Amino acid sequence: MIINTEIVKQMKEYAENNNVPIMSDEGISYLTAYCIKNNVKRILEIGTAIGYSTILLAQTAQDVYVTSIERDEKRYLEAIKNVKKAKLEDRIELIYNDALEVKITEKYDLIFIDAAKAQNIKFFEKFKANLAANGTIITDNMKFHGLVDQDEKEIKSRNLRQLIRKIKEYKVFLEKNKEFETFFKDVGDGLAISIMRKNFK
Ligand code: SAH
Ligand code: MG
Repeated sequence: MIINTEIVKQMKEYAENNNVPIMSDEGISYLTAYCIKNNVKRILEIGTAIGYSTILLAQTAQDVYVTSIERDEKRYLEAIKNVKKAKLEDRIELIYNDALEVKITEKYDLIFIDAAKAQNIKFFEKFKANLAANGTIITDNMKFHGLVDQDEKEIKSRNLRQLIRKIKEYKVFLEKNKEFETFFKDVGDGLAISIMRKNFK
């Protein structure tokens, strides 16, 4: 359900030309379908980038509200422009800050984690307090372009190896989590869907 096709096209082009890692078509399609199916109305996104996923999430229904956090100024300003173009200022609130510094008290039906992959455990632990009673936490890039399943020795860069290790740690953290049950979906770059255990017994 993509409404402003022209804007969406422009955002994709911008992302491509400026190396902004927006979600893949498959990933965003799954995510928006999930929101529609589960009647998701209030969304908190960690990692706005230029507002691509933010806008597509807001367009899943007329009464969806998205709050999204971005720490990079250039991307934040680009996101502001895009939200205006899409005429979604009333339903999208953009916050320019490090997500780990932001104080939020509201509750959300969906918390979408798509920021610095090495910080995923911190984001999860911090923002689970903002989850509504039937809420879901979804994390993007669990496969990290297939590198998570690759032999570590084949990854040449030390920083990249470190990052992949962090994503694996996060996966174990989710698998062992006593409060949340997590389903790993092999769509896009890999999504982790975490639901409070008490909600589906
Ligand atoms: N959700 C976007 C893509 C986000 S890319 C989409 O699919 O369209 C990840 C973004 O997270 C980057 O722009 C990066 O600057 C931002 N980011 C990383 N760590 C962050 C943090 N701690 N707080 C806020 N933003 C962060
Ligand atoms: Mg992502």
